[in-house]
Order: sequence, then C-alpha cells, then structure tokens
Amino acid sequence: MIFENLEEHGCEEVAFFFDKGTGLKAIIAIHDTTLGPALGGTRLWNYHNEEEALIDALRLARAMSSKASISGLDAGGGKGVIIAKPEQKTEAMLRAYGRFVETFKERFVTGEDVGIGVEDAKIIHKETEYVLGISKEVGDPSPFTAHGVVCGIRACTKEVYGSFSLSGLRVAIQGVGHVGYYLAKELHKNGAELIVTDLKEGLTKRASQEFGAKVVSLEDIYSVNCDIFAPCALGAIINDKTIPKLNCKIVAGAANNQLKENHHGRLLHEKGILYVPDYVINAGGLIAIYMEWKQNTRDEIMTKVKQIEERIKKIISVSKERGEPTNEIAQKLADERIAKKRINENIIF
Ligand code: NAD
Repeated sequence: MIFENLEEHGCEEVAFFFDKGTGLKAIIAIHDTTLGPALGGTRLWNYHNEEEALIDALRLARAMSSKASISGLDAGGGKGVIIAKPEQKTEAMLRAYGRFVETFKERFVTGEDVGIGVEDAKIIHKETEYVLGISKEVGDPSPFTAHGVVCGIRACTKEVYGSFSLSGLRVAIQGVGHVGYYLAKELHKNGAELIVTDLKEGLTKRASQEFGAKVVSLEDIYSVNCDIFAPCALGAIINDKTIPKLNCKIVAGAANNQLKENHHGRLLHEKGILYVPDYVINAGGLIAIYMEWKQNTRDEIMTKVKQIEERIKKIISVSKERGEPTNEIAQKLADERIAKKRINENIIF
C-alpha cells in the first residue's frame, strides 16, 4: 500500500516517526528534489486515521513541488504532518519533531502550516536549523500568502469584469485563520464586501467587528451569492457536492489542494467559473520563506510575490487560447520546468 501510494502521487520518499517519550506520530513526504531541497510546511491535524494523514502528506508534498516550480524557485516539494489534536501539542512533542526534521539535513526544509504557528516553528528550530518563517524581518508567511492571493484576484477581476478594482466586489472567505484574516483585511481596505465562515466563532466575530464581514454557516458559504469564493481553510472542498452549489464567477483562495480530483477543475471550467490553481495563487508564503533563506530583502520578496498576478494572467490567457481548464495548463507549466532540469542534468526518468 505504501509504495502504491508513493507511485500514485509520484513521491520520492516518505518517512514515519514515532517518539516514545512524547507519543509524537509524524510523517514527512518528499515529492521531488530535482529543482532543489524539498520545501514544505508542517501541518498538525487530528486525522481520522493514519492513511488519511499519509495521503494528505503525499498530496500536499506534490502540490509544493508544483508551487516551487511554477514560481520559478530552485526548490522541490515536501510536507510534514503531525497526527495530533491541537491540545496534545507540547514543547517536548515539537522538539521531538524538530529532531525528525534534522535527520533529513537540507533535503527537507519546513515551516508553518495549519495547526503550526510561528511560536511552534521557533520551538522546532531549537532542534534543527531547517525550519523557516521565524525571522524578525519576514516571520509569519501568512501576510505574504494573502497579498499574493489579492494580486491573483486582481488578475481575475480584470479578466471577468474588465477592471483591477476590488471595490464593491463580494468575496466569500471560507476560513479566517492566519491567511484568511490577512486576506479579509487587505480586501476590506480595497473596498470589497466580505462574507465569512469558520469553525471558530471567535474568528468570524473578529472579521465581523474589524471588517464588517457578514457571517454565514459552514454550509452556506458555498451557495452564497458572491463574485469570488476564496477557500482559505482545508482542501478537497471543490467536489461533486459543492460545485452545483457555487454561486460565484471566480474561485481564488489560499487553501492547498482545493480540487478534490483534477477533473473538478474541468467541471468548473465547463460551468464558466474561473478557477485559479491554488498552488499558483497561494505561493506568496513559500516565496517569502525561500527568499528569506536566500538572504533577499523584504522589498525583493514583495516584488516577487506581486509577479503572481502576471503568472495568473498568463495561465488564463493560455487557457482561453487552448480551451483547456486553468488547472491543467498550470500543471503542464509546472511539470515542464522540472522535466527540463532533469533532461539538462541527464537524470533518467
Ligand atoms: P489556519 O489554521 O490559521 O486557518 C484555517 C482556518 O480554517 C481555521 O481558522 C479553521 O478553524 C478554519 N476551518 C477549518 N475547517 C473549516 C471548515 N470546514 N469551514 C470553515 N472553516 C474551517 O491556517 P492558514 O495558515 O490560514 O492556512 C489556510 C489554508 O491555506 C491551508 O489550506 C493552508 O495549507 C493554506 N496555505 C497557507 C499558507 C500560509 O502562509 N499560512 C500558504 C499557502 C497555503
């Protein structure tokens, strides 16, 4: 079952770790290191079972390779997952995880993801230098991710409404955690109207108080009448059940692996909904931590994050020209760069 899953997801390596002292159960998946070390955050989630955690790690690692490749970074893709409830997270457990990361040396470099914040990353850093997103200069990658999403949304509004302006647009945000909050903030500043939902009532309340966001139920976020649906929680939310409910013109958000299956991108395309491939639009955080690692300044990072807008314009234009869904175009572009490097270095497929 393990090798079948590795083959299906095209992953190079998967490692399992159990720490006797803390009970930590963690998986690190490395998808591809052709372009460079595997970069990818660590997610802490209360998975129903081990298989669900493994598949999540493999899918997320694959998306990280595509994200690094299409963003022009010399990095590969990987992902770490910790199987735990948030209340089980302790310093000792995170330090044990840090020792696991350290065994990979530079082959896997990690950072924050769902369930792992900057303070957690700093604890992991006590055991390994291969954790990013903790410096004073750059720190939490979420604002960079959110800014990249706003740049991507502008490319879409230009295409669909003929204007880069966000004023008066209705944006439905699913999940107002780290990225969702900063996205709401930037959209609000630019005059957009917000509709939000989250599992955590405190977070929707904050969005309502700070940005005048309308709060809807977890279910209603799909069918709410809006211009843009911005998934910023978990993956696989674009699926057979949700596509018929969507009442938007654009799907553009930060969540990783939004499409349950690739063919859901085609279904959106056929329905006339412009879908922005998640790993293209949510690359701001990865760009930030990668460039910080390579000693670039904040200004240089912002310049590169803003390029997400041009990248999305290009994908939309090729999609229109060929009549193919945006997710298929993006995947070809991402795979091509990796394939070229392999050919140049005579790596046999
Ligand atoms: P987060 O944990 O801070 O926020 C996620 C929020 O979604 C939480 O508040 C959670 O309560 C909420 N949520 C979970 N399930 C939900 C559901 N069914 N309905 C509504 N809300 C739900 O995580 P984050 O760092 O903001 O990341 C959000 C998404 O963006 C994740 O998919 C992550 O992988 C992706 N992403 C994050 C970054 C980053 O820089 N943090 C970068 C790229 C991609």
